[in-house]
Parts: sequence; structure tokens; C-alpha cells
Amino acid sequence: MKSAGNKQSNQRQRKTLNERQRRIRRLIELGLIQDASEIPEDAIPIDPDIAQRANRVIPAACYIDIRFVCTDCGKPELWSADSQRQYFEITKASPYKKPKRCYECRQKELARKLHARAESGHTPL
Ligand SMILES: [Zn+2]
Repeated sequence: MKSAGNKQSNQRQRKTLNERQRRIRRLIELGLIQDASEIPEDAIPIDPDIAQRANRVIPAACYIDIRFVCTDCGKPELWSADSQRQYFEITKASPYKKPKRCYECRQKELARKLHARAESGHTPL
């Protein structure tokens, strides 16, 4: 007899698989893909609602590791499928975002903006 712990983790796996299949079915209904083979095994199907809103900007129907070069320092960077999913579906970022800067340059840019805002706040009219 299997332990309760094993049973629970099996149920979780099945749930993830069902969610993947539900998304793929919906993407086909929406005409964003022709069939399930267009989503590679290691890709995460995009949330169909987000795909519908962003279909001109994110041509892919799934999240897949993206390699890009940082516009500031020129460092090659990787934007993983799972962090894209979190970015768009959990952080609810604009689907029009595209990767530009590496992590360090993003932090620097954020600090620069905060600094500029603070400065302008203190400038007398
Ligand atoms: Zn950089």
C-alpha cells in the first residue's frame, strides 16, 4: 500500500498535466496553434487569456527559454520559460514586455529612476 504522501504528489502531477492540456485545447480553439505538437515538451503553454490579449506581440503560444543580449552591458542572458510564466501570470506584467536588460542592469536602471524621481521631488519650481 502506498503512503498518503505519494498519493498526494501523484494528484498534483495529474493536475499540472490537466492544466497543460486544458491550455493547449483552448489555444487550438482560439486558433493560436493548429495542434498540440506545436508546444514542445519543455515549453509551458501560455495562459490562453494572455495569449488572446497579446497574440500580436508574443507570437509563440508557449513560454520557452529566450536568449537575448542585454542592451546596456551586452551580456548574453537567458530568460527561462518558468520565469516568463511567473512574470506574465503571477506578477501580471504587461504582455507587451520584451527582455532588454540583464538582472544587474535592471537593478541599476531601477535605482537610477528612483533617484531621478527623488531628485525632481526636491527641485523647487
Ligand atoms: Zn546588463
